[in-house]
Amino acid sequence: MLEIIQIPVLSDNYVYLLHETASGLTAAVDPAVPEPVLAELESREWRLTHIFNTHHHWDHIGANEALKSRTGCQVVGFRGDSRRIPGIDHLVNEGMAIEFGASLGRVLEVPGHTRGHIAYWFEASDAVFCGDTLFALGCGRLFEGTAQQMWNSLCKLRALPKATRVYCAHEYTLSNARFALSLEPDYPPLLNRAKQVEALRREGKPTVPSTMGEETLTNPFLRADDPQLQRRLGMKGEPAVAVFAELRHRKDRFRG
Ligand code: ZN
Ligand code: FE
Repeated sequence: MLEIIQIPVLSDNYVYLLHETASGLTAAVDPAVPEPVLAELESREWRLTHIFNTHHHWDHIGANEALKSRTGCQVVGFRGDSRRIPGIDHLVNEGMAIEFGASLGRVLEVPGHTRGHIAYWFEASDAVFCGDTLFALGCGRLFEGTAQQMWNSLCKLRALPKATRVYCAHEYTLSNARFALSLEPDYPPLLNRAKQVEALRREGKPTVPSTMGEETLTNPFLRADDPQLQRRLGMKGEPAVAVFAELRHRKDRFRG
């Protein structure tokens, strides 16, 4: 069984600890900074054995070197980004299995935010760690990739089972909800979800993880091929990638 601990760090990042109970293996997903991770490990008496990086941005790899030197853990990251991921030991790519004790992870290449972005999918645990590709009600900015790459990546993620919990790397949900509502102010599933998000944030609680079912229903970036949203944008019948590009462009300029 995989135990998953969520550690809020910096202003809005989430680092995750994955603990495989049978083997005692423990991984940190996208450790931005070392101290909160070390403190959490110490309080649980877990020894860090792995780092799983989704992409090369500093707020995802910042603690690689420090954690590696403190714990001797192994760093896993995308093969094509081996020069941009500090301390990388295991180079992985699309479809590769990650044996993590009794848990099996699967690597998904999801470029768009960066050229070499990957996600880690643990099917038996209903969990995907998708970094800055898919957010709750949003998606990552296109820093290095194209709209076509990002749309393909989002389609790959939305094909995962609806029960999959979406462990993204940032708490951006409230501002994402405002943008989504600006497009579809009277879409009942979105209104309901936005209310839940507001209530959670008011109490200082995380809105992450969500589920893939919630995201496919309410996340505009996963619905670029939905006629209802296309009509709202005045883009009915246009290619999904063009609609996605328009959504991303609007979000980049949105001041909610
Ligand atoms: Zn990033
Ligand atoms: Fe980030």
